[in-house]
Amino acid sequence: MGETMRHILPLIVLVTAAALVVAAASVGSQRETTEERTVEREPLTPEEARVILHKGTEPPFSGAFWNHHEPGTYLCRQCGAPLFTSEMKFDSCSGWPSFDDALPGAVREVPDPDGVRTEIVCARCGGHLGHVFRGEGFTPKDTRHCVNSLSLAFEPAPRLEKAYFAGGCFWGVEYWLEQAPGVVSAVSGFMGGHTEHPTYKEVCSGTTGHVETVEVTFDPRVTSYEALAKLFFEIHDPTQVDRQGPDVGDQYRSVVFYTSEHQREVARALIRALEAKGLKVATRVEPAGAFWKAEDSHQDYYERKGATPYCHIRVNRLDTEP
Ligand SMILES: [Zn+2]
Repeated sequence: MGETMRHILPLIVLVTAAALVVAAASVGSQRETTEERTVEREPLTPEEARVILHKGTEPPFSGAFWNHHEPGTYLCRQCGAPLFTSEMKFDSCSGWPSFDDALPGAVREVPDPDGVRTEIVCARCGGHLGHVFRGEGFTPKDTRHCVNSLSLAFEPAPRLEKAYFAGGCFWGVEYWLEQAPGVVSAVSGFMGGHTEHPTYKEVCSGTTGHVETVEVTFDPRVTSYEALAKLFFEIHDPTQVDRQGPDVGDQYRSVVFYTSEHQREVARALIRALEAKGLKVATRVEPAGAFWKAEDSHQDYYERKGATPYCHIRVNRLDTEP
């Protein structure tokens, strides 16, 4: 892990410097130029320089990434350009990271001075990466980009978060939430009951205690839990008790199932904001329990029908101008 961090840290500095460039853009071009030079000056270690600038090769089984299996993107250590993804990586037993493909236009191939092999370099900065071999039959793409770990930095895939909202018929809640920016998926299911693997029919019989609930998976770099919770309070009527519009029953009660203290506090604050506007909010805030996905016939219901929800209409409850 220490080895991995050593490769990630210079990258963090690069990214931070790049952010400064963006921030500086509005200040003036002089500052921008200064910051860019800072990015360029970020030093390579002697080992990295030997490989990247002088086309060296690290010993096999020595680098940080030959036996590395996390989801994410491999970047050029020198300039930060994205080069390969973890989906392209495979085990070649060579002792060097091996990829059967590269991101479009990211890698340039040049004849190696040895007259036999094909060298690969970063298309953006020209830094030496390694060599490419074809016809070895490792994967269906029949290509092996054999890359020095020292030429790479790694950016882990974003950590996604979950949110659970119950606000009446899940078809409508799912419809709205899956269109929100930063939402990776919205799945209809059940939560809050006392049986396992409940069916839709069992839940509708009112004997299992479950609520129709939507599981939202989102990228916190793009959106926030607060933005999604606000949307939830605007697409259903949080003042209705054990019903939502035409759907009547315990399984349609309004609940925010939180997965963290932060989520609980955000939900409570939004409820206080609604109450301050004179609404008598019925929404309960409860800890998330087991989520049971509903049958396939309940997923993407409106999308498949080409219709819009009869039960969920967006009302601007929280952002209304005073
Ligand atoms: Zn590069």
